[in-house]
Amino acid sequence: MRIFGKGFNFSQDGPGNRLVYHLSGCNMRCPWCSNADGLSFNAGKEYSIQEILNECISCKAMFFSGGGVTFTGGEATVQYNQLLPLLKNLKSEKINTALETNGTSKHLPKLLELVDYLIMDFKHYDDEILKEYTGVGIEQIKKNYEHTCNTGHQQHIRIPLINGVNTDAPQEFAKYFSSFDTSYTVFEFLPYHEYGKEKWKGNYKIENGFITMDVLQQFKKTFEEYGLKIITT
Ligand code: SF4
Repeated sequence: MRIFGKGFNFSQDGPGNRLVYHLSGCNMRCPWCSNADGLSFNAGKEYSIQEILNECISCKAMFFSGGGVTFTGGEATVQYNQLLPLLKNLKSEKINTALETNGTSKHLPKLLELVDYLIMDFKHYDDEILKEYTGVGIEQIKKNYEHTCNTGHQQHIRIPLINGVNTDAPQEFAKYFSSFDTSYTVFEFLPYHEYGKEKWKGNYKIENGFITMDVLQQFKKTFEEYGLKIITT
C-alpha cells in the first residue's frame, strides 16, 4: 500500500482520536485540491499491509473517545486490493475504521461492510460540470450515495463550496439528497480555502473561489427546509 502522509487528529475524519493514513493517488483532478502532492500514484512510500496493521495495533491505546483508523488520500479506494484485506484485519482486531472517499469507486458497497464511519465527498450534482472540473462524472457517486442510503449505513457527506463552481443552486443539491432515505446521513459544508495552494507549484487554477457568509447560510437554510441534517467538524 502506498502512503504519502499519516498522523493523528481528533474528530475531524471520523469520531474520536484517529490515526489517519493518506493513500497515494487519485482518479480525480479537482483544481481546488489541498493534497496536490499526493495525487500521483507514485507519491509517498510503499508499506506492506502487515506493517500498517502492526502500527495500528501498537496505537490501540491512542484510539480514545471512539477513535480508530481513517483512510483518506488522495483517493483511498484506488488501492482497493490492499485496502480490503487491511480493513478486514482491522475489524478482526476490533479497531474502529473510517474511510474518506470521493465516492467514485464501484467497490464502495463491498468496503462499506468493513467501514464503521463513511465520509463521502459530493462536489456537484451535474454530471457535465463535475466532469469538466474533476475529469470524472457523477454516475457512480450517485449510485454509492443511493446504495448507502438504502442499506441504512451511517453516511457523512461533505460538500466543498466553491464560488463559481457549485454555489448557484443549493436547492438542486437538497432536492437530490432528500429524494432518498437520509435517516442515517449527515451533511457538512466545507467553505473554499486555499490551504494547499502552494503544493500546486504555480499551477493553481481557481480564482475568486471564496464564498460569502450569505452563500453558506443559504445552503444551510435550504438543506434544513428539505429536512437534511447538517453538522460541522
Ligand atoms: S477527489 Fe479529493 S484528493 Fe482527489 S483531486 Fe479531488 S480533492 Fe483532491
